[in-house]
Formats: sequence, structure tokens, C-alpha cells
Amino acid sequence: MKRNLAILGSTGSIGTQALEVVAANPDIFEIEVLTAQNNADLLIEQAIRFRPNVVVISNETLYDKVFSALDPLDIKVYTGEKSLSSVVQMESINMVLTALVGYAGLIPTIAAIKAGKHIALANKETLVVAGELVTGLAAKNRVDILPVDSEHSAIFQCLVGEFHNPIEKIILTASGGPFLGKDREFLKNVTKLQALKHPNWSMGAKITIDSASLMNKGLEVIEAKWLFGLTPDQIEVVVHPQSIIHSMVQFEDGSIKAQMGLPDMRVPIQFALSYPARLKSDFPRFDFSKYPSLTFQQPDLQTFRNLGFAFEALNQGGNMACIVNAANEIAVASFLRDEIGFLEMSDLIEDCMQRVSFVKTPTLEDYIKTDEETRRRALEFSF
Ligand code: NAD
Ligand code: MG
Repeated sequence: MKRNLAILGSTGSIGTQALEVVAANPDIFEIEVLTAQNNADLLIEQAIRFRPNVVVISNETLYDKVFSALDPLDIKVYTGEKSLSSVVQMESINMVLTALVGYAGLIPTIAAIKAGKHIALANKETLVVAGELVTGLAAKNRVDILPVDSEHSAIFQCLVGEFHNPIEKIILTASGGPFLGKDREFLKNVTKLQALKHPNWSMGAKITIDSASLMNKGLEVIEAKWLFGLTPDQIEVVVHPQSIIHSMVQFEDGSIKAQMGLPDMRVPIQFALSYPARLKSDFPRFDFSKYPSLTFQQPDLQTFRNLGFAFEALNQGGNMACIVNAANEIAVASFLRDEIGFLEMSDLIEDCMQRVSFVKTPTLEDYIKTDEETRRRALEFSF
């Protein structure tokens, strides 16, 4: 049976690589929905090629442009705040790939789960903000949340065939990013151009900055807790600069399984879309002779404080991870506008963790309010 996909954020790094996977497997995948925020030209080009039923352009000022290009092809075009949440409910869709950035992924993902659609989850922020609520809804509606994030895909791949065996712990690998080994003195004055140069992966701007600050690994710790039902002390982070081992699972007999390969997001994207099957691919293969040593070291939590904040948020529970996420989104946007320095991103997050109202057992409305309150406070923050 064909899989009919909605790709939220089809013009981004994950979205475009997902479309490469779809193009290579036309008998298996059909595109029903494509969406983008601002890149109207690429969205139009993708729609002409993949012929979805519907596209959404979130930036309303670009609606007329997209409409006049696609209406003659009988492709429906929507815009407006609620359109993502309504298109994911279309009957013809089986699976939604959430490849948009940040908190914006939360409400459409909830709508898709409630409509019974399986989720291929790239948008880790959804689980960071409201992991308990989202995984609870998925269980209730019997939908799968299949990880796209390479570390979580690695863990998921290690667990295939082991779902009844308890996990002792997982080991999330981190590349360390462009500033591995640097101290706070160095980091004080780094520029966004330096931070945007990731050694192993080419990704969207927000996650690239998160990787440089180790916030990405912090968000992934929280994502892993919810995907795999773990306690914080079952999650270990190890720096592995070559990014060949994508993560590991240790079982109760002491055995460790690792999933390996070249850093290529098309592998985890494809596995999430085709699960439980593995599709033949022509992606470049790993060559052991080119990597004589794979190395491992402890993360430097004194320099990169964000990773510690994520563990602290997990230990506190409630809406604390939602606060960390919103503060980080404002911090990264401000850093990318050259308004704050690299280390100040952590100061801003810490300030929000201390001052935004804590809610022990939040509802969806509480998460929405927390996100708004945190963004307000973060914008007031002064150094
Ligand atoms: P990106 O910036 O390259 O692309 C984001 C896409 O989402 C674009 O199509 C954009 O138009 C759309 N978008 C952005 N903001 C939006 C909004 N407010 N409303 C609607 N649409 C919006 O980002 P990316 O690197 O592809 O990352 C996407 C998600 O996948 C993120 O949550 C990221 O953490 C996660 N992820 C990415 C990678 C990677 O290799 N890029 C790896 C693991 C996880
Ligand atoms: Mg990752």
C-alpha cells in the first residue's frame, strides 16, 4: 500500500531531503501536502514536481504568488494560522512528517495525532515543550511517533526486535559542534558565522546554533525521555566528534548496541517513512579504512551550560522544558541578529528558568501561556 505523506516544512533541510527519498521511491510514497513559511519559489517548484493536493504557505503576503502559480494545476493553496492544523487532518493522509522548526510544530502535530495520523517526528521541540501530553495523545489514538532525529532513529533501530527487553540506559552521541574544546574566554566573542559552521552536518540555522551551544543535545535528552519512556539518569551523553555512531542502547545484561553510518539525514528520514521496512538506497556507504579511529569524550558542562539546563528541566518536570525551549528560541533568534553574544544565550535561558511561572501539571493551555510568558520575559532580558 502506498504511503500518503504530508510534509510540514518541505522547503527546509529535512523537508528537501525527505523529498529526495520520495523521488527515489515513487512506488511507495505519494505527496498529499507540502508546506512552507517563506520560500514560495521552492514550494511552487516542489508542488509542480510532486503534485500534492494541497500546499500551505504560512506567510500570508506570499499567498497570491503561490495561488496564481498552482491554481491552474488544480492544487489547493491555503494560508493563515490554522491552516497547518486543518490540512494534516485530510482523510487521504497516512503520515505527517513534522519538519518545521520550533514551537510552531506543536499544535499541528497534536491535530495530526488526534486525526489518527502517524507522525515522522523531526520537530523535536514538540516533545520538548509538551512531551507528556503528546506521547499520551499518541498512545490514546494508537498512532506511532517515529523518530527522524538521527540519535533517536539510532536508538529506535537498536530497539527493533528488543521492544520487550528493558533498557538499562541509552548513550546519546554528540559531535561537540564547531566549538568542541574551546573555553568560555574564546566563546565570549564568537560570531554567528563561526557558530553556523557545523563540522559534520548541514542543517537549518536554528538547529546549527543549538548544536554549537549543546542546546541541541539538551533538547534531544528531553526528546529521548518521552520517546523511549526513560528517567533522566538513564540518559547519558558522550561526545563523539566523527558522528559515525549515531547513538547506543545498553541493555540489562550489559550488552550495548550501536547504530552506525555516515552522517546523512536521508537514512533516518527514510527509515521513519518506510518503517518497518528498509528500502534499498544509493546513499554513500561508510568505509572503515577512512576512519581508523572513532573517539569518545565527556561533554564539558561548565563551558556549555545548556546541556545541564536540559537535565535540570527534566528533573523539575512540569512546564520547565517548555520554558527552556521558548527562552532558547528567543536566544537563538537574538544571537542570529547579533543582539546578544554566544554565552549570553545561556544567561537568558537561566534567567527565564528562574523567573517564569512554574506549573507542576500543565495542560495544553498552560503550555501555550508558558510559551507566551517566556518569550515576553526573554525579550525584556537585559545584560
Ligand atoms: P529549516 O530551517 O531548514 O527548515 C524549516 C522548514 O519549516 C522550512 O520549510 C520553513 O519554511 C518551515 N517553517 C519554519 N518556521 C515555520 C513556522 N513558524 N511555521 C510554519 N513553517 C515554518 O530547519 P531544519 O534544519 O530542516 O529542521 C527542521 C526540524 O527538524 C527542527 O525541529 C530540527 O530540530 C529538526 N532536525 C533537523 C535536522 C537536520 O539535519 N536539519 C536533524 C535533526 C532534527
Ligand atoms: Mg540529532
